[in-house]
Amino acid sequence: MSGLAKKAAIVGGGVIGGGWVARFLLNGWDVSVFDPDPQAERKIGEVLANARRALPSLYDKALPPEGKLTFCDTLADALAGSTWVQESVPERLDLKHKIHAQIHELAPAEAVIGSSTSGFKPSELNEHGSRVVVTHPFNPVYLLPLVELVGDGDICARAASVLRSLGMYPLIVRKEIDAHIADRLLEAVWREGLWLIKDGICTTEELDEAIRMGFGLRWAQMGLFETYRVAGGEAGMKHFLAQFGPALEWPWTKLMDVPELSDDLVDLIAEQSDAQSGHMSIRELERLRDDNLIGMMRALKKSGSGAGGVLNAHEATLPDPDATDLPVTVDRVIPHSWTDYNGHMNEAYYVEASGLATDRFMEMIGADADYVAGGNSYFTVENHVCYLSELLAGDRLTVTTQVLNGDGKKLHLFHKLYGPRGEVAATVETLLLHIDLNSRKTSLPLEQVAHKLTSYAKQHADLPEPEGVGRSIGKRD
Ligand code: NAD
Repeated sequence: MSGLAKKAAIVGGGVIGGGWVARFLLNGWDVSVFDPDPQAERKIGEVLANARRALPSLYDKALPPEGKLTFCDTLADALAGSTWVQESVPERLDLKHKIHAQIHELAPAEAVIGSSTSGFKPSELNEHGSRVVVTHPFNPVYLLPLVELVGDGDICARAASVLRSLGMYPLIVRKEIDAHIADRLLEAVWREGLWLIKDGICTTEELDEAIRMGFGLRWAQMGLFETYRVAGGEAGMKHFLAQFGPALEWPWTKLMDVPELSDDLVDLIAEQSDAQSGHMSIRELERLRDDNLIGMMRALKKSGSGAGGVLNAHEATLPDPDATDLPVTVDRVIPHSWTDYNGHMNEAYYVEASGLATDRFMEMIGADADYVAGGNSYFTVENHVCYLSELLAGDRLTVTTQVLNGDGKKLHLFHKLYGPRGEVAATVETLLLHIDLNSRKTSLPLEQVAHKLTSYAKQHADLPEPEGVGRSIGKRD
């Protein structure tokens, strides 16, 4: 699959189709869309704007250049040359049958054909001889990694490798079942929530607080069973089951019953939801959701837990910045979380960016995580930042790093931070000392690091001294 053209056809460009468009496009695929709705282009444009603001912020490297987006008047045009077809039309079996008969006829033979269906099984979708597998994503598709894969083993294996290359997490479902795995769990919670509201136990807002102030935080990083394992204490899972298992027999739950969605109940829920969230538009809520997801997912990246592990694996496949005259040590997009109330990059993040550049340079000379684990490291002892121009969320930021001195225990670096138009937006001069982590005293770097450092220092010695070296506060040339 990796040698095939990166061209996806998105059939149905609503909430989910629009998310797929963004996921493929921002990972460098060309995307063609077929959706008869005259509003589809506008709606997808809005989803894409949110995705461009959000997805690059998850990574500390730049994603590939965006692919080309084309809106097509016919299904045949959209499918031509595609290696992946993603159907996301409304959840009606008759409609899915009709569209898959056409896709089966028109799509290239080698294309993976996936359906976003939340509930239908592959055997239902393929009743009339099509070859679709279920590729069930989660909203927002451009941020959340999970895709439930159900159907033919060979096709699912091919699909899984493509999904991984898009930074997603394919979960192959062992046996087909209505609504797959995740939506069955969600429906159980939803059903119980409807009872709690109908019976006046809580409002929509109180129910949401019960989730987000407590177990919602646990679920994102450990799921259900790992959390319960911890809850069992040292005695573990068996103890947990023995202690809480009998409660399943108590009359706590109405999980097998569904409250009738009467007009009264629908009105009650809608009114409570308006009171809870009606002060924000859907797009504003989406941006709030995206910013929160990014913060949580970036926190998970540090430990590699859950979605953080998927991000780390994907980031490792993205190319490191190209070396030119000077090594490019950062090449990324400025995330929203780095900006202040003005929308400008906050001053502390200029140091953060130079810190990332120093970390990358450390890797380049072999002073990496293994080197630190072996008891050696460089500590930053001084930084001087010169702020030259503003940077905004979404701007592409590149940093070059020049070695001014790499002799002995000292390492003297000069980072130049470039904005999106190639302008120097800041310089950061950094002094580091090599430290023996056992004695906590300065020491000489080990031979392999000293060797690589000397080679960079020699190359950089012929370059002109960068403007502003040694500058002190308030002194401009
Ligand atoms: P939606 O109503 O937002 O979008 C459906 C789109 O399909 C619309 O833009 C519509 O114009 C288009 N469409 C209708 N007929 C078409 C046709 N013949 N050819 C091409 N396009 C056509 O619906 P949605 O929420 O995006 O759901 C789409 C699919 O994704 C469903 O199968 C649903 O179960 C699944 N899904 C939804 C969610 C969710 O949270 N909304 C999550 C995961 C999966």
